[in-house]
Amino acid sequence: MSQISENLNKLYEEIAKTAEEWGRAADDISLVAVSKKQPDERIDAALAGGHRVYGENRVQEAQERWEKRRAEYDDLTLHLIGPLQTNKVKDAVALFDVIEVVDRPKLARKLAKEMDRQDRHLPCFIQVNTGKEDQKSGVLPADLPGLLSLCRDEGLDIIGLMCIPPVDDPPGLHFAYLKQLADDHGLKQLSMGMSGDYDKAIAAGATAIRVGTGVFGPRPDSA
Ligand SMILES: *Cc1c(COP(=O)(O)O)cnc(C)c1O
Repeated sequence: MSQISENLNKLYEEIAKTAEEWGRAADDISLVAVSKKQPDERIDAALAGGHRVYGENRVQEAQERWEKRRAEYDDLTLHLIGPLQTNKVKDAVALFDVIEVVDRPKLARKLAKEMDRQDRHLPCFIQVNTGKEDQKSGVLPADLPGLLSLCRDEGLDIIGLMCIPPVDDPPGLHFAYLKQLADDHGLKQLSMGMSGDYDKAIAAGATAIRVGTGVFGPRPDSA
């Protein structure tokens, strides 16, 4: 078995164990393997190990990596988890299956229009800037209700909320906050938790965890 299959199996076990500890069903938690910047052979090892759900943060990089693999695997689910410029919306809608980064009216309108045009109505998350950080993507919590109603008016299928906590904060507080916001607005899905804190995210109610280095090892250019 490859190292990556081993990592995946260990993660499935950890997810199941943590879910059980918190009285949750493991089936309700999906592992999004974040393949950004990872070498091809590691991705092919994960695919050979049977994993089918992946996350990417750049549209162009994702196209280069996944367009050909799409042809081979018809059961892939690709999540866009990085900032989306409006001029990349067309390509993003064509390639991805889930858009996790809806965070402003202009983007929401463009996505809705493009999904109509391509007749690909993808499930979306709204990204919330729970730490109110200046440079970070995500809608401010105070602006979430307005953005959510705009998305619903536009016909976007918003299934949940996503966040990336500030690096220096205890992540659990942000996960609990995101869960509260989702409950307040009747949203069922929560994308939160990465390699270092996915257990806390599961405890707080995550339905999708985004794990990169924990699946594939360190990204080569960040060693
Ligand atoms: C890179 C990335 C991850 C994965 O981070 P790891 O620490 O490698 O698990 C998760 N979410 C987002 C939005 C990312 O950009």
